[in-house]
Amino acid sequence: MNAQFDLTGKVALVTGAGTGLGAAMATGLAGAGSDLVLTDITAPEETARKAKALGRRVGVFAADLSDMEALKAAAAGAIAEFGKIDILVNNAGIIRRTPAIDHSEADWDDVMALNAKTVFFLSQAIARDMMKRKKGKIISVASLLSFQGGVTVPSYAASKGAVVQITRALANEWAKEGINVNAIAPGYMVTNNTEKLRNDPERFRAISERIPAARWGMPEDLQGAVVFLASAASDYIHGHVLVVDGGWMAR
Ligand code: NAD
Repeated sequence: MNAQFDLTGKVALVTGAGTGLGAAMATGLAGAGSDLVLTDITAPEETARKAKALGRRVGVFAADLSDMEALKAAAAGAIAEFGKIDILVNNAGIIRRTPAIDHSEADWDDVMALNAKTVFFLSQAIARDMMKRKKGKIISVASLLSFQGGVTVPSYAASKGAVVQITRALANEWAKEGINVNAIAPGYMVTNNTEKLRNDPERFRAISERIPAARWGMPEDLQGAVVFLASAASDYIHGHVLVVDGGWMAR
């Protein structure tokens, strides 16, 4: 691995690491040399097993990160066990598909809590540790719906717009602290999050036709982007949203 991308000796905390994009990004970071702290609602043992097979040190925390007390405990526990967190990947996120006219308060609150509030407060909790060393990388998972309104996912679009604005706001304050705060905006990826879309023949066809790369993204397609934003290669990049979408936004 080119030294600029080498993560040997780093510790990365990845949320929602049990499946999908979080599992693939965690494995990518481990492949670049990083040790891992993995969190999810249930302990992400399979992802941990893969990283351990690569020779990495791995800690596993089960936590509902939309609960502020659980969030604080997970952050404190991770720092206590590993001594530091160099890289935070705010990946955990949920989506609720209901037309705006029927969208419930519970759907709004659940989605905004995990996708936006947790991103802010987990970043805050981990940045306090990063500031002691004047070094750190925070990478949050945005979406194409950070830029577009989407269809029947109004709380999700609002929350992902917030992810981009949180990224910019934190970058403005923390760049001088040696912390790079950036986001990745994945396109349409094959995970549980998009299962309903892929099972709807009309939506599946309409989406597929617009992707210049002529395929949906696979979770592994994010590995290069997350390693880049976690590594020294991106040290002068702050407040950026890196779109990994097979060309969707260029269309
Ligand atoms: P996924 O549903 O496969 O995985 C989400 C993970 O988050 C799961 O492991 C889940 O258990 C975990 N999680 C859910 N609620 C949690 C909570 N309260 N506390 C802790 N963990 C929780 O979905 P995915 O596609 O891998 O999504 C990962 C991120 O990528 C999300 O933020 C999602 O919005 C975003 N995203 C996905 C796509 C896509 O096409 N799949 C596109 C753009 C953005």
